[in-house]
Amino acid sequence: MRMTIVVFYIIALLFGCKNQDTAKLNLGNIDPHDLANLNLRWGDSRIRNLSLAISEDFTYEEQELIKDMALKWDAALPTYKVFKFPTDEVENKLYEKLEDYFLKDKEFGVYKAYDWFTNVSHRALAITQFFYVKKNDGTPFEYLEIIHADIIVNFEYFSFSADPDTRFHYDLPSVILHELGHLLGLKHTGGSADSVMAPSMSIFAAQRELYPLDQAMIAINYGQEYLPDFTPQGKNEKIYRGVIELTDGGHCRISRLR
Ligand SMILES: [Zn+2]
Repeated sequence: MRMTIVVFYIIALLFGCKNQDTAKLNLGNIDPHDLANLNLRWGDSRIRNLSLAISEDFTYEEQELIKDMALKWDAALPTYKVFKFPTDEVENKLYEKLEDYFLKDKEFGVYKAYDWFTNVSHRALAITQFFYVKKNDGTPFEYLEIIHADIIVNFEYFSFSADPDTRFHYDLPSVILHELGHLLGLKHTGGSADSVMAPSMSIFAAQRELYPLDQAMIAINYGQEYLPDFTPQGKNEKIYRGVIELTDGGHCRISRLR
């Protein structure tokens, strides 16, 4: 019996298909209950060298600051290499539909949008869109594995500054630091804790350093050395999508996609 299961598992792996053909995609919206209760993280093979693509539309200074923010998260996980450095400078992507950032390219990017999406609040300064699959469903090892994520910054309605002392524009690195936390699977911290992952942030005051709580959260999220994966790579594995929006009032929430 045990042998049969092993053979079946190997066959499932061999014939597993990760085809992203839209017609075959089993795409669903985020399950808030799962998100609240399960660990959300990249798989072991991805997290150790995650390629972060940064749009060439950001100025040189902005690109350098975005890399600095990625390095802050990287430094918080000393036993991992979270991001691949140097990061990739890529052409900006302007897709009309949000899901096309997943369906039409394989990059995990930070992009500018000049024509904001009709199905997301126009008050969103930036969004992190992520796609995940549910692993080990029904076992004690259940978790949500991120398979794709992008950060898109709203340059249609907002201006951003690279100067931490400005009080007239939103501090771009602070916004990116928070969004990168989401891209890595972090959720919000509760209450008034000192954290860049607070659900409500002062978006005019620069906050470019992680707090001990943030470092602890990322360490917990990726603390397990290797995650078991009992999930056969089925042709029609359900993929869930979440979009988190940081609004101009400093509140961050899951988007109700219209
Ligand atoms: Zn947030």
